[in-house]
Amino acid sequence: MSTLEIKDLHVTVETEDSTKEILKGVTLTIKDGETHAIMGPNGSGKSTLAYTIAGHPKYTVTQGTILLDGEDVLEMSVDERARAGLFLAMQYPVEIPGVSVSNFLRTAKTAIDGEAPKLRTWVKDVNAALAANNLDASFAQRSVNEGFSGGEKKRHEIAQLELLAPKVAVLDETDSGLDIDALKVVSDGVNRFAANGDKGVLLITHYTRILRYIKPDFVHVFVNGRIAEQGGPELADELEATGYDKYVKAAV
Ligand code: ADP
Ligand code: MG
Ligand code: MG
Repeated sequence: MSTLEIKDLHVTVETEDSTKEILKGVTLTIKDGETHAIMGPNGSGKSTLAYTIAGHPKYTVTQGTILLDGEDVLEMSVDERARAGLFLAMQYPVEIPGVSVSNFLRTAKTAIDGEAPKLRTWVKDVNAALAANNLDASFAQRSVNEGFSGGEKKRHEIAQLELLAPKVAVLDETDSGLDIDALKVVSDGVNRFAANGDKGVLLITHYTRILRYIKPDFVHVFVNGRIAEQGGPELADELEATGYDKYVKAAV
């Protein structure tokens, strides 16, 4: 079972001279096996929502709740959130010089499971996850994200997703900057993950094109720190045709 329940979430960040409210009351529930797409213009607060779910210290929750299977996520540390089954693929994956992909994945898996994975099956699993995401086995020995192309970073995020097998995956613009082949590889990976049945996916995107490959159950239009509209996949088709304009105008 996995339900992520976000209720009336308000989030601020400190800028040099003021406190700015970025999320202004976000309510969203992702149930077992559901894929939700959040679509919205740049600067609407999509990444802020992703970081807040993951527990980034820059973002302060001033109101509202986030529950995972009834547990209070906001009371958990970043590590505890990962152990509880939350996964975030960041819009801009960070480089970790000196830490190999292999060690990074093993450390993450050990932290999440509470015990080290069995070496023999683990090496096989890592190679399979890399191969499934069109990454050469040699990537295991490279420093995390260092010198990776944009597409390699995103494919590495999906390899991580498949290996760590969280309950709910938050994917922040995993499609941006991908060519059509990489987009297909990444989408196939997300679909394999989602096909596990009880998994939740929150797919944040700026463009509709990934939704040709990943079929969301629900689409939310995100504008100015709020969900302005929600619907089924047909809402993505409407956005494709008309863009965000109508929602942006209505939000000001
Ligand atoms: P999106 O992902 O939808 O493009 P973001 O969540 O990245 O939007 O940003 C929403 C707004 O919040 C923007 O105006 C951005 O400048 C601001 N913002 C986000 N994070 C920070 C931060 N750490 N410090 C200051 N401003 C921030
Ligand atoms: Mg958002
Ligand atoms: Mg963003």
